Amino acid sequence: MSDSTDFSGQPVVLNLLNVESAYGPIKAIRGVSLKVRKGEIATVLGSNGAGKTTILKTISGIIDPRKGTIEFKGEAITARDPAYIVQRGLSHVPEGREVFALLSVQDNLAMGAYTRKDRDNVAKDMELVYRYFPILKERATQDAGLLSGGQQQMLSISRALMANPELILLDEPSLGLSPKLTKEIFEIVVRINRERGTTILLVEQNANMALNASDYGYVLENGRIVMEDTCARLREKDDIKEFFLGMKEEGQRAERRWKKKKNWR
Ligand code: ATP
Repeated sequence: MSDSTDFSGQPVVLNLLNVESAYGPIKAIRGVSLKVRKGEIATVLGSNGAGKTTILKTISGIIDPRKGTIEFKGEAITARDPAYIVQRGLSHVPEGREVFALLSVQDNLAMGAYTRKDRDNVAKDMELVYRYFPILKERATQDAGLLSGGQQQMLSISRALMANPELILLDEPSLGLSPKLTKEIFEIVVRINRERGTTILLVEQNANMALNASDYGYVLENGRIVMEDTCARLREKDDIKEFFLGMKEEGQRAERRWKKKKNWR
């Protein structure tokens, strides 16, 4: 394991120390420690059920951890109210997008800015998100529920941007999207990071995409971080190649089980 503090020399924006969260008797994450530095894209890789979503929900205050501390910009935010955490500059793009289906695209975007005091800049930021995602401008007055899955993912990211965050938590942006759309979304996420300097913590099952887009990575297994390094180095590690393969085999096993159930050959 490399010394993570030496990685970029940038200040640590988000710091998790020994965090444990549970659902009743089920411990979903155990002793999770990780750092995200200013201006980087960090990723947590893990297969289904590894605990990725739980990490993000614990950071953004949706779940209170049983143990450990979370610091954002040097301030302890452990178990603080989610609205307070958004106001401090940390926005969460949830798994499955969760847009307000009966509100228009522009009203969804306005909801993202509801905690902001600098109202003058809100209109400017709406134009900014329309530059990243022109299709949302075309659909501005349509109900968000009528958008495709990919467009809803774009809206969900844009809604987070409307809070003018310093750090965005991004939960499996590739979920349910075609490889082409996934690639497009990742390219825009990287642009947002490079152009706005927004720090990003991304959790993904699509390890290949995430490792290519990110600077630093953590591998999560059964609720524990088992490996961390720069993404350049992680891509070269045999364990990671096995990890990819492991996921591929699990996918093939799941497909065989499903076909058997349906009596397919
Ligand atoms: P996925 O990619 O499937 O969302 P994940 O890595 O994000 O997986 P989590 O959703 O964080 O994993 O789940 C971690 C563990 O906690 C799993 O064992 C899961 O079954 C369990 N879990 C998650 N949500 C709940 C819940 N609301 N109640 C009980 N157990 C839960």
